[in-house]
Amino acid sequence: MSRPGTPGAQPGPQWAADRAPMPTEPARAYAELAAGNRRFVSGAPRHPNQDAGHRAAVADGQHPFAVIVGCSDSRLAAEIIFDRGLGDLFVVRTAGHTAGPEVLGSVEYAVTVLGTPLVVVLGHDSCGAVQAAREAAATGVAPPGHLPAVVDAVLPSLRRATAEGVADIDGIVDIHIAQTVETLLGQSPVLADEVAQGRCAVVGMSYRLAAGVVRPVTPVPSAAATFDAPGTSDDPAASAAA
Ligand SMILES: [Zn+2]
Repeated sequence: MSRPGTPGAQPGPQWAADRAPMPTEPARAYAELAAGNRRFVSGAPRHPNQDAGHRAAVADGQHPFAVIVGCSDSRLAAEIIFDRGLGDLFVVRTAGHTAGPEVLGSVEYAVTVLGTPLVVVLGHDSCGAVQAAREAAATGVAPPGHLPAVVDAVLPSLRRATAEGVADIDGIVDIHIAQTVETLLGQSPVLADEVAQGRCAVVGMSYRLAAGVVRPVTPVPSAAATFDAPGTSDDPAASAAA
């Protein structure tokens, strides 16, 4: 397919027609994210949908194929690690990917108004928010300012980790990711209904800072393997990490 390559050329409907359509079902959306992460990890990103033509094409409306509810960590930039561009991802980030009312409302907007078929809760190893919550719980000293709002949102995950005998920080992170998935579904009947109807899926994923690899920590859409043959999404780049 041709691609618009003339800087300053007038955008038009034919440009949009050249674009690959956005995935509209959960499994295909998941496969698209997995493919983008593999390109990023391998050092061969395509940087799709980042050119001026696409910018103009999506100005009149957005149809992102995934919501990313991610940690705010500066090393977790969604469009970079999934090798995507403008209009692809609806990104909601807070420290420790906490899921308060504004986050829930943002997710519901994307899923019900924009028709986004996939929600990813994206955490990462060595998460500072989880570490801060663990320190606060261990010392009994609340952090200053508004930080307790973040700490308090992570505490249920810490209690769950303790109950399950998990003490290492990355194990706690995985539990916190799964807990956030459950919070989204438990606190948002609107989202739960979209999932029950098969129009949307919610997946928890964890990112490894050094390797750049994203791996699922909760079940993925059942048909994802139909569209995607990643080998494993866990360690293919670990040996390439510094
Ligand atoms: Zn974090």
